[in-house]
Amino acid sequence: MIRVVILGSTGSIGESTLRVIERHRDRFRVVALAARRSVEAVAGQVRRTGAQRAVITESGALERAGKLPRCQWSTGEDALLELARDPEVDVVVNALVGSVGLGATLAALLAGKRLALANKESLVSGGPLVLAAAAQGGGQLVPIDSEHSAILQCLEGCRHESVARLVLTASGGPFREWNAEEMGRARPAEALRHPTWRMGAKVTVDSATLANKALEVIEAHFLYGVPYDAIEVVVHPQSIVHSFVEFVDGSVLAQLGLPNMELPILYALGYPDRIPDRALRTFDPMSVSPLTFEGIDRARFPLFSLGVGAGRRGGTAPAIFNAANEVVVEGFLSGRLSFPAMAEVVAEVLCAADPAVVRAVETVADVLEADAWARRAAGEAMEARGEMESPRC
Ligand code: MG
Repeated sequence: MIRVVILGSTGSIGESTLRVIERHRDRFRVVALAARRSVEAVAGQVRRTGAQRAVITESGALERAGKLPRCQWSTGEDALLELARDPEVDVVVNALVGSVGLGATLAALLAGKRLALANKESLVSGGPLVLAAAAQGGGQLVPIDSEHSAILQCLEGCRHESVARLVLTASGGPFREWNAEEMGRARPAEALRHPTWRMGAKVTVDSATLANKALEVIEAHFLYGVPYDAIEVVVHPQSIVHSFVEFVDGSVLAQLGLPNMELPILYALGYPDRIPDRALRTFDPMSVSPLTFEGIDRARFPLFSLGVGAGRRGGTAPAIFNAANEVVVEGFLSGRLSFPAMAEVVAEVLCAADPAVVRAVETVADVLEADAWARRAAGEAMEARGEMESPRC
């Protein structure tokens, strides 16, 4: 029996993970759950799974809760890290949102766990530290991101030197066919209406700006040790081909499937085994035809180039991009920033990041300082722009 802890259990990935595990109770057991503040939702999941431990990271939330099911409840960031390194746990699913997930990622890998990583921000912000933690602790990093899961599946049994190029696919998001003027007026509700994937608010907005794809290029760079020049992105609106790998002999492999996160979750939980699952065997080639591909319009989606540029700059630059992006997404969702202003603020922050801020990532403190600096800089840049003339919600 494989014992699983789900960090960020009440989000979209957390819920999907629970559904997958409920179909495979003969192999997996949820032993612990963690979420930021939704005590009631976690209580429901404790009843569903029989988890023995639950962590609510936000202080005070537990105290305000009513009657809770029997389970060892605790609160705070330290309790979250303890779950990630718990000797009674085999697989840590990190589905936290944002760079706050870095601590848990490092703790799980240092403790030698399998880390099923949906929290791409931790790899983007602290890539060198994450790789060092895996090497030092013997932990195994398996992505729960459809593109990176696809690449991992294509690389199965291949030698690293055989890989010539990775091509990540992007759905293009809800604004793929909008012109710049329409995008200038885009509201949060419109950005949250993703054409092919059902996901949480942060990643859905990131998919609308294509910041998500920049984060994924950086994620692929660290996960697979491929230089940025050999990672490309193509827009594929049907979200059926999840990525391509081109090999040195010109052969190209791709992984296909309907857009359903349960597949990469199941693959990460069972890696490298493939676990039979009839519920996921719904693919019909006739129903997904035609499959189309197009380039990214970098002018309409400037956060993509800004993010990849930060990745190429290296050091703490991706952490700065990621933190500033988290701030502007909140700014957009709360009606303080227009859709195009998100990229403008992030660009301002990256321009202001001089060599004193962008430096090598040697310790967690380097990442945390860069992250805090970027959040402050983005907040100030937003402040300086003043209130928006009309609310966007
Ligand atoms: Mg993805």
